[in-house]
Amino acid sequence: MEIRIEKANSLKQKPDFNKLGFGKYFTDHMFMMDYNEKDGWHDARIVPFGYIPIHPASTVLHYGAEIFEGMKAYKSADGYQMFRPEENLKRMNDSAERLCLPTLPLEIFTEALVKLITLDYEWIPESVGTSLYIRPFMYGNDESLGVHAVHNATFVIILSPVGSYYAEGLNPVKITIESEDVRAVRGGTGYAKCGGNYAASVRAGKRAAERGFSQVLWLDGVERKYIEEVGAMNVMFKIDGKIITPSLTGSVLPGITRKSCIEILKDWGYTVEERLLSVDELISAAESGKLEEAWGTGTAAVISPIGVLSYLGVNHEVANNKIGTLTQKLYDELTGIQWGLRPDDRKWCLKVKV
Ligand SMILES: *Cc1c(COP(=O)(O)O)cnc(C)c1O
Repeated sequence: MEIRIEKANSLKQKPDFNKLGFGKYFTDHMFMMDYNEKDGWHDARIVPFGYIPIHPASTVLHYGAEIFEGMKAYKSADGYQMFRPEENLKRMNDSAERLCLPTLPLEIFTEALVKLITLDYEWIPESVGTSLYIRPFMYGNDESLGVHAVHNATFVIILSPVGSYYAEGLNPVKITIESEDVRAVRGGTGYAKCGGNYAASVRAGKRAAERGFSQVLWLDGVERKYIEEVGAMNVMFKIDGKIITPSLTGSVLPGITRKSCIEILKDWGYTVEERLLSVDELISAAESGKLEEAWGTGTAAVISPIGVLSYLGVNHEVANNKIGTLTQKLYDELTGIQWGLRPDDRKWCLKVKV
């Protein structure tokens, strides 16, 4: 597919790359492409970053037909590299299928990413821990209020240089186990990366923050008994030498960081159990001292050590509220591969020369 390129007349002033934070600054250009049933995907274009006009009856504004992805590009000596982008497309297509949005071929997705990032290459920050966050998203765009599978959609990619998630180094976080709100139910959209899941989850996060916790740990939506994930990250526990992570039951988001950690841990000789883990089993492991480490996994933070788990008003310390040895080792290995500092034996990175 031909991608039309309309360059910005003047380039923006770049922010201070030492004070980027997360998702606050955007590059000079964005990718857009439209879909309708007659023409399929068409009018692929890279245009100056800016507002998107939208019809007031557009499906996304009323019925939440929106899916997204989150990935990163890292600067390398002669260009940049992306971490497993084909996995993001696979997941986006699974999300699209669930929300009756159109799927996207890998060739178009990859070409759009490479052309856009290469054009805005100067926006990729360099120092350790920083990266160019990539946010592909798609929304239903029918101009009518009927509720049905969408006939028109728009796919967009925007780019945002982001700072190190851990400005003060890797720090353990305090997590509270949420016993009231739920994030997702089986048969619902838990496995899809869709905006609606987030809209419904912020209340619990807000209440947790008011009580001094940085994230909530979600329980399953039916029995409120099994561990699902933590905030917008998957979660793993080291219990009695083994690694346990909730299985992908349909209400858990299939994280690419999760999948990568499982492969690395197995290569290191660990037993990794993907299974149902009840909150009672977890808390009794914490009480008996068998819960050795706990961490979240996701693209933004990569690995997030958990120092305190709170359940029904009782705080349980994990690994003495310090970073566990294995947690640190996983963080070093995964970020080492992503930043191009360690060998990428599994060929996970897509390298692009500029
Ligand atoms: C994106 C996301 C994750 C992490 O997925 P990664 O592919 O590892 O970034 C986990 N949980 C939720 C709810 C998410 O939206």
